[in-house]
Formats: sequence, structure tokens, C-alpha cells
Amino acid sequence: MVQSLVGLNELQESFHIIDNGQSGLSGIIAIHSTALGPAAGGCRFWTYNSDKEMSHDAARLARGMSYKNALAGLPFGGGKAVIKRPVGDFDRVALFRAFANAVASLEGRYITAEDVGTSIEDMNIVRQRTPYVAGLEPKPGKAGGDPSPWTALGVFESMQAAANFTFGSDIGGLTVAVQGVGNVGANLCHLIKNAGGRLIIADVDRARVNHLALELDAQVVSVNEIHSVEADIFAPCALGAVLNDRTIPNLKARLICGGANNQLGSDKDGHTLLSREIVYAPDYLVNAGGIINVVAEYLGETTEQVRERVDQIANRLSTVLASAERNKQPPHIIADETAEQIIIGTRRAAA
Ligand code: NAD
Repeated sequence: MVQSLVGLNELQESFHIIDNGQSGLSGIIAIHSTALGPAAGGCRFWTYNSDKEMSHDAARLARGMSYKNALAGLPFGGGKAVIKRPVGDFDRVALFRAFANAVASLEGRYITAEDVGTSIEDMNIVRQRTPYVAGLEPKPGKAGGDPSPWTALGVFESMQAAANFTFGSDIGGLTVAVQGVGNVGANLCHLIKNAGGRLIIADVDRARVNHLALELDAQVVSVNEIHSVEADIFAPCALGAVLNDRTIPNLKARLICGGANNQLGSDKDGHTLLSREIVYAPDYLVNAGGIINVVAEYLGETTEQVRERVDQIANRLSTVLASAERNKQPPHIIADETAEQIIIGTRRAAA
């Protein structure tokens, strides 16, 4: 059953409760904005302790996608699906079929893809019932496949630009502390190493971090200290809300640039970073490579078109950092305002 709660959260265009008792599906599709085009954003499959926590996550993630897509210059709005992982055994195929029906019922207002906890296999199930899905097997000559290398490339090129802004040099010779060496973090480490940067890395997965350390001659530290090591740049590539009251006082890096979503615990933390003269590269601006790849797949575009769009991310960051410095504002405020102007401007032009 898809129940629309339009206006539940005034900042969202619509909120759709997606429940199907038979399959165990329980979730939300949040559509933040379709001003720029259909709302595009992945589907998160996660353990939520309450419906409130789930709806908060859906709203926050959908808004983030609106801003990310707007700043990346994509003809798409922002949305997100979140599904509560059922307790105990469940039929994954039946659950994602029910999710596909929910996506289909929105008739193209929301386009889904993978996110944390979902895979290409899940999206293949969705594709059997609706065309409004990306993140499938790549077709020869066309964009598609794993978005992580594109995300890492956008973050790396942004890091180069931000290093020039902050230190007046590129990454060669600088030390980067990378938190989380999964799909994005590991790809990013390779790019940093190739550019002559030094690496300090941490991950809860000991085998993964040790393997990468051997390969790239990186120093390994514990997950509790990675944010506070002596490094020039801190690159969060694991969790959200890692920049907060507890961590910011211990940061030694003068630049933060990483792939994780929602790095700031709250708006206030962006202001605290500014007061400590730490440059923060807004996460949704620099980690847009993945969604650029996903929507290019949906539109049937080529890998070259993805490359062109990803290469523009660093320039956009330089513009935001320069404007933030001129206006004595935190960069995330400038990025938010720019995205809002794009979305509101398009809405007005269409009215
Ligand atoms: P992933 O699951 O492949 O990697 C995350 C890594 O972080 C894992 O190796 C995990 O063991 C590690 N980790 C978990 N908790 C940790 C902790 N407390 N300290 C250190 N490491 C920890 O995920 P990913 O695809 O690499 O995504 C990483 C981040 O980037 C997420 O926040 C994701 O939302 C964001 N992101 C990813 C993409 C993409 O294309 N994959 C795009 C945009 C944003």
C-alpha cells in the first residue's frame, strides 16, 4: 500500500508511506523537490529503531539529494527511499518486488537506485516491474555500473582544488587521514597515493584496512583517533555526523574533504569549523560523482559525458570556497544557498 502524506513535512513535496504486510515492506519514499525534474535518489535498507527515526532519515536524505542534484547541474530533483530491515527471516525478492510496485505507482516522479544496504541484484528485481530505476548492469559504451570510482574521483579532484585554496599547493607531499576505506575510501586512497600524498587510514574492518595499508604503504590508526591525527587533510568516507562537538576540538587537519554524506552533525558545526579556520568542502557538492553516473545511466549517456560532469565538481567547489571567504560564511551555507537559488529560480520560471 502506498499512502501519500503530502505536506507532512512542509519542506518536502510529498511523503509516501510504503507498507506491504505480506512481504514485510515498511518504509517511506520522500520526495523533496521535483522542480528540476523527477526526484532521483537511492534506496536505503537499514535497521531503524522507530518510525520517527526512519522518517527523519528519509526527509534529511531526500533534501540532500535535491541540493546535490541541483548543484551538480543535473535535470533531476531530490528524493530518497528508506526501507526498514525486517527483524528475523524475510523474503528479499518479495520485499523488493513490493518496493518496485510502490516506485511504479509514483509514475516516474521518483527514480530509485542503490544506497547503503541495497545492491545491483535488488535493483534488477525493481527493474522487472518499473523502468524508474538505475544502478543496473552497465551496457557496453554506456554509463553505469559501480558509482564509487566516480564519487572518489570527484572527491579527489575537489581535494586538489581545496588543497590549492588552503595550502597553496596540491596534494603531493601532504598527509591525508582517510576515515573508512570501503568502496569510496579505497578508490580515493589510490588516487591520493598516485598524486604523491601520504596516507593515514582507519576502518572498523581490520582485514580491509591492513590489506590496503600494505598495498599503498599507508599508516593504520584506530577508528577512535583517525579524526585527531597529525594530518593536513581529513577525509571522512564512512559515517555521517562525524564533525561534531566531540570531534571538532580535536581536529588537527586544516582541510576537510571526503565522500561521506551528511558529515556535519548540525549546521552549527559548520560555523565552529569556520571559527577554527578549518576549511570544509561541502559533502554533497564533492561526492556528486556517484549520482552523476547513476543519472547518466538512466538517460542512456556515455562514460565520457560522466567524466565531463564529474570534472566540473572541483571548479564548483573553488567558486563556493572563494565566495565563502569573501562573505566570511561557512562554505556549506554558500553551497546550500546556491542550490536553493537554482531550485527556487527554476520553480519561479516554471510558474
Ligand atoms: P562502504 O560501505 O563501501 O564503505 C564504508 C566503510 O566505512 C567500510 O569499509 C566500513 O567498514 C567503514 N566504517 C564503518 N564504520 C566506521 C567507523 N566508525 N570508522 C571507520 N570506518 C568505518 O560505503 P561507500 O560506498 O564507500 O560509502 C562511504 C560513504 O560515502 C557513505 O557515507 C556513503 O553514503 C557516501 N557516498 C557514497 C557514494 C558511492 O558512490 N558509493 C556516493 C556518495 C556518497
